[in-house]
Amino acid sequence: MKFTNVTIAGSGVLGYQIAFQTAFHGYQVTVYDINEEVLEKAKSKFEILAKAFQKDLHATDEQLEATFKRLLYTSDLAQAVQDSDLLIEAVPENPAIKIAFYEELAKVAPEKTIFATNSSTLLPSQFAQDTGRPQKFLALHFANEIWKHNTAEIMGHPGTDPQVFGAVVEFAKSIGMVALPLHKEQAGYIVNSLLVPLLSAATDLLVNEVADVETIDKTWMVATGAPTGPFGILDIVGITTAYNINKMSAEATEDPIKIKTVAYLKEHFIDKNKLGVATGEGFYTY
Ligand code: NAD
Repeated sequence: MKFTNVTIAGSGVLGYQIAFQTAFHGYQVTVYDINEEVLEKAKSKFEILAKAFQKDLHATDEQLEATFKRLLYTSDLAQAVQDSDLLIEAVPENPAIKIAFYEELAKVAPEKTIFATNSSTLLPSQFAQDTGRPQKFLALHFANEIWKHNTAEIMGHPGTDPQVFGAVVEFAKSIGMVALPLHKEQAGYIVNSLLVPLLSAATDLLVNEVADVETIDKTWMVATGAPTGPFGILDIVGITTAYNINKMSAEATEDPIKIKTVAYLKEHFIDKNKLGVATGEGFYTY
């Protein structure tokens, strides 16, 4: 199973990065999004991304020129997948949007196309039937700033064909990713299964007034040798994400400490637009 043509559906935060990374590594890439206006925005973001590739990966002008030549754009789904070997879906993290997307896709995609979802929190088994080809469907999960944080977690559902799984592992390697295969479905994959409890424990310690931000981070860094503590990581991830995760947990469990954490994050960060590195201030100032 060898791939030549790859379609990326959704050109938002992650989609445009996946598209550029894939084209950079020699694949013909078609970027699909809901309308031409959004696609125009994606094109301008590619220029910025090219500069990051130059700075961080020492990409040459020739490599970048060739990358741009391999990128096509369309808001017509049938055209976007007409000869696609692999479609990577990076549409919003909303089950209704994803289901509607897969239902449309199933009608127009050729039989050969493998579908991969980049979803962070939803399991492939939730959508497998909507794809119309469960055996050719799995998750391929990237991290933000994929050219630097080059993890690719590959996770099937019980009906994924092992050959399809293997082909996607090889594809991930071929675009410069560290391929990380999971043997079974796991909400949060490996990375978030490790990270979310750490970040959640850190905010619990803070809100419980056990120690301050600097002391909690220093403890983690000195004790484990990690370069960044949990609050430093929260600033990079964005405090909005932490807020949303705690809010969901507070609503589901009614745990008093989670309810207190949500109120704390809202008052001190969300309402003040101190959302982390992206806004110049979060737990630390940048
Ligand atoms: P985003 O909101 O930045 O981008 C979504 C894009 O999808 C937008 O360009 C939007 O116009 C487009 N879109 C909306 N409806 C569509 C449709 N029906 N068909 C095609 N395109 C459509 O979202 P994002 O942050 O890039 O996240 C996309 C997916 O990637 C989500 O499943 C998310 O969980 C996952 N993800 C995000 C991150 C992250 O750090 N942002 C990291 C890993 C995985």
